[in-house]
Amino acid sequence: MGSAGRLSAVLALVTGGGGGIGGAVCARLAREGARVAVADGDAAAAAAVASRLARAGEHAAFGADVASAPAVAHLVADVQAHFGAPPAVCVACAGVTRDAFLLRLSEGDFDEVLRVNLKGTFLVTQAVARALVEAGAPGGSVVTVGSVVGKVGNLGQANYAAAKAGVEGLTRTCAKELARFGIRCNAVLPGFVATPMTAKVPPKVLQKFADQVPLGRLGEPQDVADVCAFLASPESSYITGASVEVTGGLFM
Ligand code: NAD
Repeated sequence: MGSAGRLSAVLALVTGGGGGIGGAVCARLAREGARVAVADGDAAAAAAVASRLARAGEHAAFGADVASAPAVAHLVADVQAHFGAPPAVCVACAGVTRDAFLLRLSEGDFDEVLRVNLKGTFLVTQAVARALVEAGAPGGSVVTVGSVVGKVGNLGQANYAAAKAGVEGLTRTCAKELARFGIRCNAVLPGFVATPMTAKVPPKVLQKFADQVPLGRLGEPQDVADVCAFLASPESSYITGASVEVTGGLFM
């Protein structure tokens, strides 16, 4: 449990909010007092997460493809119309994998992973920042989700590693450009976390990674949500442009 009320009445937009990590982030932010706009390409998954949050009536669910500029513009406008303000906190969790070894990786699978993970993070960050600046809002916090794989690479994930390295560069640049508006931008870099995404990885491969984690286990979505809540909150008010690894010490 976090410090209750640390995000009291703050409006937070979470993309990929219907997923494993995104769902945990929504739950954590809501427990700390935030009103949460749960967005996901899978609208039913977003609605299910929103209905389970603390103070369920205060939140709302939205279906949106983060990789489509018009869809993201609609999303942020709809969130603003529903809640009467732009989201001061945004956690960009939407992501996909299309794993294949380089020699077999198709152009389509390369493009799709870059489209969702990198372009989607760009579009969401830009739309939220624009809305905050236009509203003259006093500050904000954008948290992007990279991956430690973006730093160290991973067999079968040339597309994903490239996209996640891109997320870090994007985030640091946004941090520099948006600092004068009081908007902070930071990335979290999870290691291997048990979610529907990693359920696709063969158990033997996951066990191999788990055996190498100094803290002795795979991550849980809550481990990542804890750090997102800290980066969203005023307790991190002097942190921007940072990448925080949440890996249990893997690849340190
Ligand atoms: P997940 O599959 O449970 O959740 C991803 C969510 O994103 C899903 O709900 C999916 O519907 C949504 N999504 C996919 N494409 C979308 C689109 N175009 N528009 C809107 N929503 C879309 O996976 P997860 O493990 O919770 O991953 C969350 C984030 O964490 C991703 O960015 C992922 O790359 C990153 N990450 C995960 C791990 C891990 O080990 N699970 C490690 C490092 C980074």
